[in-house]
Amino acid sequence: MKKTVLNKNKTLIELGYEFLVVCPHCASCAKVIALDNLSPYIAHVRRRFICTACGVIKNKVIKANGYGQARVSYEPKVNYEVILAKNPCDWYFRLPLYLQIACSGNTLWALNLEHLNYIESYIEAELRESHPYYLSVESRLPKWMKLAKNRNEVLRAIQKLKVKNY
Ligand SMILES: [Zn+2]
Repeated sequence: MKKTVLNKNKTLIELGYEFLVVCPHCASCAKVIALDNLSPYIAHVRRRFICTACGVIKNKVIKANGYGQARVSYEPKVNYEVILAKNPCDWYFRLPLYLQIACSGNTLWALNLEHLNYIESYIEAELRESHPYYLSVESRLPKWMKLAKNRNEVLRAIQKLKVKNY
């Protein structure tokens, strides 16, 4: 039986409660978490960087509305919810995402493990519901990730990310 996936219609903003990033001090997997509103477009929200490996904690109040800087998506096109296709990083401390890997001549990245699992279940499915919500993760995945010929390579790359050290 073919696997079917139903659209979850989650947006990258909803998944932005946590970013797994590379710690600039010890290169371990660290986190950037939201202490209040998840939207990167709101001023004065608070974010925290935490590395449990080396003990560094940093807080940041996002002073300006991050619109234009913190726009998030997968492809470098001008869009409502835009992008960080090159050098994917968190939207606040601008640290490189821990979950990124070269794949099919591109970079596959995820903000956190929930996001990675979300992409996996979408790519794994052979039958997909049409018309996902236009700001959802599934509606914004780049074409190369959805091509049948890249499917196995994308799934292999996701598996590699899953077995990294956390
Ligand atoms: Zn560290």
